[in-house]
Amino acid sequence: MKRHLPESEVVLFERNQASDAFGFGVVFSDATLRTITEADPVLEEALSERGRHWDTIQVWLKGERHHFTGNGMSAIHRKNLLSVLQENASDAGVDMRFGTFVPSLGDLEDFDLIVAADGANSSSRNQVGEAALGHDVVQASAKFIWFGTTHMFDGLTFVHRQNEHGNFAAHAYPISDELSTFIVEADEQTWLNAGLDEFDVTQPPGTSDLKSKEYIEELFADDLQGHSVVVNNSRWGNFRTRSTESWFKGNVAFLGDALHTAHFSVGSGTKMAMEDAISLARSVAENINDLPAALNEYQAARKPKVAKVQDAARPSLSWWEHFARYYNTLDPLQFTLHFFSRSISIDKIRQRDPHLVSAVEDEWLGKHGTPPLQTPVTLAGVEFEGRLLSADGESLLNGAARLDLDAPDLTVIEAPADEYGLASRFAGLPSTGTVLVQGGTPLTRRLLSEEARLGRGLTSILLEPTDEDAALTAVLSGRADAIASESTR
Ligand SMILES: Cc1cc2nc3c(=O)[nH]c(=O)nc-3n(C[C@H](O)[C@H](O)[C@H](O)COP(=O)(O)OP(=O)(O)OC[C@H]3O[C@@H](n4cnc5c(N)ncnc54)[C@H](O)[C@@H]3O)c2cc1C
Repeated sequence: MKRHLPESEVVLFERNQASDAFGFGVVFSDATLRTITEADPVLEEALSERGRHWDTIQVWLKGERHHFTGNGMSAIHRKNLLSVLQENASDAGVDMRFGTFVPSLGDLEDFDLIVAADGANSSSRNQVGEAALGHDVVQASAKFIWFGTTHMFDGLTFVHRQNEHGNFAAHAYPISDELSTFIVEADEQTWLNAGLDEFDVTQPPGTSDLKSKEYIEELFADDLQGHSVVVNNSRWGNFRTRSTESWFKGNVAFLGDALHTAHFSVGSGTKMAMEDAISLARSVAENINDLPAALNEYQAARKPKVAKVQDAARPSLSWWEHFARYYNTLDPLQFTLHFFSRSISIDKIRQRDPHLVSAVEDEWLGKHGTPPLQTPVTLAGVEFEGRLLSADGESLLNGAARLDLDAPDLTVIEAPADEYGLASRFAGLPSTGTVLVQGGTPLTRRLLSEEARLGRGLTSILLEPTDEDAALTAVLSGRADAIASESTR
């Protein structure tokens, strides 16, 4: 803003000190970096000077290590990123007032524009009115805690461990020459079984959370090669996905987490906040005499882009709510494919890393003797030579088999419009036979199909608009036994 409008007075109020930072690192994909760099080279500068770059994501489980190459990403310690941003703001002439809490928006009435970038628990949002802004919050069921470690991971690594209490998984990546981020997730029951809820919520994070640090250190000791887990106000929480209808009211414009969040597994919160800031500054500079027009333009430009990221984050967050099931039912290699295909298809994975996909295909071939979609399967008592059907149940790949849609051991289930409706559909699943899942959304169909086949040992068919790429992804990753394709209707 200050660079666009050098004559204007830009003041930053930050309650923390300049050197404070919450959590550990922040990740950016190479693609994100290119977009932000076009507007401002500050991030690239920070990452190349003080960050770490890698190309491969690893998944570790059950003694195996699988790799997914072609995923250029960088990470940086939050403290380092903040200090580069502060240097740039200072060079541009921004008046930065650290250790300055703003109790009320009323205190800023002399300003033409107030940018409320006060984070997920935004008090500005409360003052303006969450209902008036159309603010919505959905809380995830999984528990997470944000640690660091002195063990240097070699790029983004997902480490899975199971013990008598249940399943835990860590998202780990290097952020400097001395530290890696180490975020741990577990489902609520596992967390309770392990007694990790026994901290005093009335006390600040610290000694009352040491039990969790020690527990995690011991559980992941082999992966951390004896290195310690590091805390920074680390406390268990549930991720909250936020979204907002109106991005401004009067002369108060919101940005970043105050408006929207996306599960940290897609590493996009900071990117979205920065892209909001770039867009807002540009719109204001281009409409300097018409603030309402500027803010409308800002909202119109950014809202659809943020919605896209949040749409991609939803299946990823859901994966992290169910990872124990996938761990317990899929082989490590298929588990790896299942994880990486939570929001992209097998074709995209193959483009980045052909070896990973051929390894999963070879494993299937070794087990079944035929490629996935050509592998015979029995559906509601009828033997099919392939796993791709037309919407009315006819085999599409080979053979003349036809699914009897009225067969007694075929249950057709309508997927719900959202995840809240899943419990009632789970209750309606039969104890044996084949289910055909239709309707709902791609995510609710998959979750229902997975509950049927991975949770209850049923055979499942997904009925959806699909192509061979999507069908191969669903079958090879273990999400369904067969696909009935609506696109042939
Ligand atoms: C575990 C975890 C991992 C994550 N990893 C990634 C990742 O890898 N990549 C990524 O892009 N994103 C990641 N994110 C998301 C990212 O941290 C946030 O989206 C990002 O910090 C949002 O920036 P913001 O400026 O909107 O809010 P914040 O970073 O929360 O900043 C808000 C600031 O406002 C200040 N403030 C609040 N109220 C007042 C007041 N009244 N007066 C003065 N100051 C005030 C606060 O002190 C704070 O500094 C992760 C989030 C979590 C929880």
